[in-house]
Amino acid sequence: MSLPEGQHRLILIGPQGSGKGTQGELLSVYLQIPTISTGHLCRTEIERGTALGKSIEREVRAGELVPDSVITEMLRVRLADYDAKDGFIIDGFPRTVAQARDAESWLQPTKVIAIELTDKIAVSRMSARRACSQCRYKTTADAVAKHGSICPRCNGAIIQREDDFPEAIQKRLDMYRSVTQPVVDHYHERDLVERFNGSLSIPLVFMEIAHVL
Ligand code: AMP
Repeated sequence: MSLPEGQHRLILIGPQGSGKGTQGELLSVYLQIPTISTGHLCRTEIERGTALGKSIEREVRAGELVPDSVITEMLRVRLADYDAKDGFIIDGFPRTVAQARDAESWLQPTKVIAIELTDKIAVSRMSARRACSQCRYKTTADAVAKHGSICPRCNGAIIQREDDFPEAIQKRLDMYRSVTQPVVDHYHERDLVERFNGSLSIPLVFMEIAHVL
């Protein structure tokens, strides 16, 4: 399949806490294409209490990977939605080289945005992050201590994700280093990778990404 010229099919890769989610949201507005987070797809199924959600609940809460076949199917269904026809940004997939190889024929990324961060900064950012359980508004533990746990955007409850508790954080970071980092090498061999320093501020990282697109 040849892609229409100028179409962006971006993959965001980086450890948890690297700002991938935020960069995905900014890029989505900038490029007018959807950002699809496989973690969010999983959490939505769980919150809705669907059979699929029940089947992956244990892994997601424990910070473990859900089976490749499940995540691939979920993503392919989502990519078939109308809003993704002119391009997309994916956050959270591929997480393993096996997933990347399996997706070779249908994902066809045009660039892989790799946001790099040390474990130390990733842990401190993840421990501090909070989000609205309804609208995904992002905030921090400090802001909640100051302003309370009601979302200023939609009045939903601001919570800490279960997999952002210390034990699950370390498990997810270890998993990132051992199984996801090699995905960057996989795409590097195909000359698709652009690397960014995730310890810089959000606007700065965004400007650097926008510059290479
Ligand atoms: P995230 O929000 O990207 O940190 O993802 C949250 C959780 O969703 C992960 O810890 C996994 O349980 C699951 N998940 C998301 N993407 C994938 C994937 N590509 N492969 C397997 N599991 C995934």
